[in-house]
Order: sequence, then C-alpha cells, then structure tokens
Amino acid sequence: MSTTTSHAFHHAPMDACPFMPVFGPPAIMFDRGRGSELWDSDGKRYLDFLAGLAVVSLGHANDTVAEAIGDQAETLLHVSNFFANPVATEAAVKINGLLKDATGHSGQVFFTNSGAEANECALKLARKHGGRGRHTVVSALGSFHGRTLATLAATGQPAKHEPFAPMPDGFRHVAWGDLEAMRSAVDGSVAAVLIEPIQGEGGVNPATDEYLQGVRSLCDEVGALMMVDEIQTGFCRTGRWFGFEHAGVSPDVVTMAKAMGNGMPVGACWARTEVAAAFEPGDHGSTYSGTAIACSAVNAVIDTMQEIDAPSLAVERGAQLVDAVRRLPGVVGVRGRGLMLGVELADGLDARRAYADLLDSGLIVNAVNPRTIRLLPPLTVTSDEVDEAVAMIADALATQIHEAQSGAQQ
Ligand code: PLP
Repeated sequence: MSTTTSHAFHHAPMDACPFMPVFGPPAIMFDRGRGSELWDSDGKRYLDFLAGLAVVSLGHANDTVAEAIGDQAETLLHVSNFFANPVATEAAVKINGLLKDATGHSGQVFFTNSGAEANECALKLARKHGGRGRHTVVSALGSFHGRTLATLAATGQPAKHEPFAPMPDGFRHVAWGDLEAMRSAVDGSVAAVLIEPIQGEGGVNPATDEYLQGVRSLCDEVGALMMVDEIQTGFCRTGRWFGFEHAGVSPDVVTMAKAMGNGMPVGACWARTEVAAAFEPGDHGSTYSGTAIACSAVNAVIDTMQEIDAPSLAVERGAQLVDAVRRLPGVVGVRGRGLMLGVELADGLDARRAYADLLDSGLIVNAVNPRTIRLLPPLTVTSDEVDEAVAMIADALATQIHEAQSGAQQ
C-alpha cells in the first residue's frame, strides 16, 4: 500500500486503511495548500470551497497564523491548568471582548479542543446552572451539535442516535423554525435551549430573526438559558462575527470552534459571568484547555480577521457568489448568509453526483443532502476564484441537465 498516491485508499480493501472506517475511505490525499487552493499528491490543483468544513476561513497556510504557531512552538507549548499562560489569557480576553460587543454582557471562557467539547461544556454548565430537577436541554430537529454521547443526544437527528442507544437522558427535540413547537417544549424543567443560527450539517437552514428572538423570549419567560452553537457560523462566516448578531438577540452561552484556530484544533464555550459562576473548581476541565500553542492561533486569527475586516469580505464575496449561482440552470434557490451557502438543485438533479463531478474538475464542495450543495469557501477567497468556481458548478449542472434531457428523449 502506498501512502503517497492521491487516491490512497479509495479502491483499497477496508482493512488496508489505517483509519477507523467512520468517514468511509478517504478519496484524495492532499499534501499542500495555500489560500483557497489545495494540491493533491499527484500535483493536481483544487479550489477548496469547503475550507476544511468551515475551518480555514483565512485560507490554507495563512502566513500570520503560521508565524504565530511557529513562534509559540519555540517559546511555550503548554503548561497545566494549575497555572496561567499569557497566550490563553489574551485569547480569552479577546473572545470576551468580541462577545461583549455582540451581547452587551461580559463573560468567561472555557477553551476546548473541538466543537463537540465546547458544546459538552455548555451542556454541563446548563445542568449545573439549572440545578437538580432542571436539566432538560431543548434543541431542534435537523440540528448538529457533535459526536460525543451528550452532544449526539442534543443533535436532532434520530438516525444518528439509533446505533448508540440508549442516549443520555434529558434531551428534547422540536421542529426547526416552529416557535409554537418550541413554546410547548420549554417549561420549568428546561435548563437551556441549544440552537444554531443557521443549521449547517442539517442542510444550511437559516433561522429567521423572529425565531431567534422568540426563543430568547421563551427562555426569559421560564428562566432557561439561551445557548447558541456558533461552531460553524461563528468567526465572521455569515458576515457578522457571530450568526446570532443578525437577529439582535443576546444569548447567555455561545460555543465556537472551527474557524477560531484556522486549522489548529481549538474551541471555546463562553458564558455570561453570572451563568459561568454556576461552575466551581473541579466541575469541568481538560488537559489541553487553553494550551498556549492552540491559543497562539486563536490570537492570530482574531487579529487578522479584525485587520482585514473579515465580516465585510464574507458579505461581499457571498453576494457575488449568490448572485452568480442563483442564475445557473439547475439551481432553484440559494439559502444561507455571507459565505455559508446551500445551493438547492432542481428536481431530478443529484447533489452527490455534482459533488463527485466537481471534485474531478478540481472544486471541493459538499453535498449536504441529496438536493443541496454546500459552499463554505475561505473568507479570503478572491473574486476570480469565485468566478472560476461558478463556471465549474455551471458545467457540472449542465452535464446532468443534458443527460436528463437525452435520457428523456430516448
Ligand atoms: N456544532 C456544529 C454546528 C457543527 O457544525 C459541528 C461540526 O460540524 C459541531 C458542533 C462539532 O464540532 P467538532 O466536529 O469540532 O467536534
């Protein structure tokens, strides 16, 4: 078995792959990236319109982030959480600054290594804050909150629960976007509502402003926490620093990961100070919480996003992309905000086939459901790269339309 071919494991027997089979056989081996571009081991170039699933928002091999990580690696990688380090302290202050601007409240941060762990922290905080007898967390059908047992239980996708039953207790799911359904689920036993401003894995389904405002009011009525999962939407992806800002609501707890490290595995759970006060020493922890090397990337990401005005880039390039894609034959609608977009295909067209054809032509997208292509390019994507991607999508859809028409004529 070669580990250097670009299609390393695609046609190999399952046991020839060194990874557990949870992702299916990896299709391509990438060994280099720059900005929105990736190169496989055969030297073929791709445009990455998925950004490693909303992770490398500042592009691959970003110079500032690379330099920060490199310098930090030569200074201090890690100290235990018995002690502080200046890098995590700076990152926590920065994140709190962003969220103070966005919510009007000051808060505190717990750093994690992933999005699921950020939500896990939020779920434990909700239970501790709610107290005994008030531990239920309500989330939406179609949501995605992670793969640990508790975050999987919060995830509103029953098919993903089934193989791992029984799920942890204390989770309730309601129809997405339906405020009446939310109202009937949010009672005095509810510790928190956990919600994505735009469901990402669920198909790029934006919440309306009224829905998020309604959830905030319902939480206030019963004294439950409003917890927003910004793991995919956060860090400027939707054209604001956080997705909830579009609705003008002020959540109690915000979770984030993905783009905050631009590829460095790091996440965080932020909570208003009065809410965070429910935690006491020993209630939660993680060896790598606030490790200096990860936080060096967070500081570089926040500084760079502020410097380049990343929210405006998401708005401008997003508008260009939506405007071009929605005119393409075979496209019936475009959902989302900024550079988090779901392109809905016409009846009879197949998003999975489009994904495969686009990969062949050198464009990485994702078929988030059988009819929807998800686009999440780096926020630094250029106008020319957007044009190039749109041309490839046009070709891929034209091929399917042509085949469908010739099939119908036979
Ligand atoms: N929440 C949302 C909204 C996500 O999109 C994801 C990942 O896709 C997660 C949580 C889980 O994050 P991670 O894969 O880093 O654990």
